[in-house]
Amino acid sequence: MKFIKYLIIGLILLGALAFGLFQISAVQDFIAKKAIEQQLQQENLSSDEDALSALVCGSRSPFPDPNRAETCILIKAGSDFYVVDIGGGSAMNLQMWQIDLSKLKAVFLSHLHSDHMSDLPGLHFNSWLAGRPSKLKVYGPEGVENLTDGFSQAYSMDTKFRVDHHGEGILPLSVAGYEPITLNSNGEVIIDNGNLKVTAFTVEHEPIEPAFGFRFDYKGRSIVISGDTLYSKNLVDNSKGVDVLFHDAISLDTVRMFREVAYEEGNKTLAKIIDDIQTYHENTIRVAELANEVEAGYLVYYHLIPSPRSDLAENIWTRGINEVRSKNWKLSKDGTLVTLPVGTDEIIFDAIE
Ligand SMILES: [Zn+2]
Ligand SMILES: [Zn+2]
Repeated sequence: MKFIKYLIIGLILLGALAFGLFQISAVQDFIAKKAIEQQLQQENLSSDEDALSALVCGSRSPFPDPNRAETCILIKAGSDFYVVDIGGGSAMNLQMWQIDLSKLKAVFLSHLHSDHMSDLPGLHFNSWLAGRPSKLKVYGPEGVENLTDGFSQAYSMDTKFRVDHHGEGILPLSVAGYEPITLNSNGEVIIDNGNLKVTAFTVEHEPIEPAFGFRFDYKGRSIVISGDTLYSKNLVDNSKGVDVLFHDAISLDTVRMFREVAYEEGNKTLAKIIDDIQTYHENTIRVAELANEVEAGYLVYYHLIPSPRSDLAENIWTRGINEVRSKNWKLSKDGTLVTLPVGTDEIIFDAIE
């Protein structure tokens, strides 16, 4: 008994001492500096091994979610980075994870819905500051030039203020701005440098035309990103035997519940939007069937409509998928990382917090 009494007194004294120490400015500064050191540590994304990787920098659709950004996938092929779509909040994710954006080679926009491009100015600025050596290349459907011209104009004063304040040594004016490249509306191979081949192909997101999906092939490993689409024959043709298929999807059980509640509450606008979106996104089950059809090594759901915010919601969202595809599928979150090491058939999942 005595021992327990001394133990409790000892713990209280230790607690009081620790509390006292935390009140000392020098101790606070020491701890805060350690935390900042950790914050500024650059993510390697397995840079020491040759691989094709994908990091989900935004996993949600326009439905809000406090823990997710809108659509974004960062691709790393060898040491080069590419970004597919850059929706709201996703530029901050890349910044927070200390991705080395000096190695950003290009951005690919699947289509010009705002949840796929509204953070482009943030990515432009962060990569400029990181030392991107040329203007930011942005591939996208017709209208991409209008978009980048508009962003350049809207941010012209910001650009001037940044250069005036920090100097051209840090922010060279010659690489500020964008190089827009309009994708051929029939789809095409956009990059083929011997190691990496990037193919753009059209998908079914009517009335948004054209809308694109992208395939990345790097030294025998492959990733397909669907963009926003219904079941697409073109996507099937471009996804045969792919290692990892990222596909957007709508959970019908979940949106029907949203619709019922919206209708009961007299929110006719939301009820109408929910009716409309079901005509241009594929449902979770059909996506699983498609992944089986193309014999994808792994299916990763992204652009989740709407993204589940609890275990119960996730349970409802994923209903019925296992009955179609019993393994090798996954719901992504912001920070989901998949690595495909070259020369193997491994598919390795990890997460960046
Ligand atoms: Zn979308
Ligand atoms: Zn869309």
